[in-house]
Amino acid sequence: MELLKQKVMNEGIVLAKGVLKVDSFLNHQMDPFLMREIGREFKELFAEEGITKVLTIESSGIAPGIMTALEFGVPLIFARKQKSLTLTEDIFVEKVYSFTKRETNEITVSKKFVGQGERVLIVDDFLANGEAAFGLARIVEQAGAAVAGIGIVIEKSFQPGRKLLQEAGYRVESLVRIASLEDGKVTFVGEE
Ligand code: 5GP
Repeated sequence: MELLKQKVMNEGIVLAKGVLKVDSFLNHQMDPFLMREIGREFKELFAEEGITKVLTIESSGIAPGIMTALEFGVPLIFARKQKSLTLTEDIFVEKVYSFTKRETNEITVSKKFVGQGERVLIVDDFLANGEAAFGLARIVEQAGAAVAGIGIVIEKSFQPGRKLLQEAGYRVESLVRIASLEDGKVTFVGEE
């Protein structure tokens, strides 16, 4: 996705340990026009998958997730990282190790919102080791629903997430794929 590539090139900041900071358009300040285009791209990619729900994880997945859900005309669910006091009903719980925070979070989704017969598109802002996507997929499967695909905004292809998810049988589509962040420079897959 050319527009997203330009944003990453012009505004992305490479931090130590293979982390890309994109807080000017995705992770803190958010670019609504870019989010709309991201939603449209995922709609095109997964148009034939019969998507009935979009599932993401708070907080940075919510913006791309809601725009994708809008394109499909289906609800967005975001998994919560903290157990909410108002979340009193039955919940699905999974443990997810956070790559950027270096800690394990419990993520929760109410049993009310995902169930048998659903075809769920998982959306997230980044793919690194695949922990977040696997955690979300386990929740979908616990619910007896199907993972119809995994849509990633920025994939760091030098980390094993895509490979592991594909080996587990999931369809993974990423809007940009980064081959390397070495020497403080972003190199995209296909441009090495
Ligand atoms: P994974 O679970 O695939 O190991 O990592 C993906 C999750 O960690 C995403 O939900 C994202 O929030 C965070 N993450 C992983 N790598 C990066 C990165 O380079 N930059 C930012 N901003 N977040 C990242």
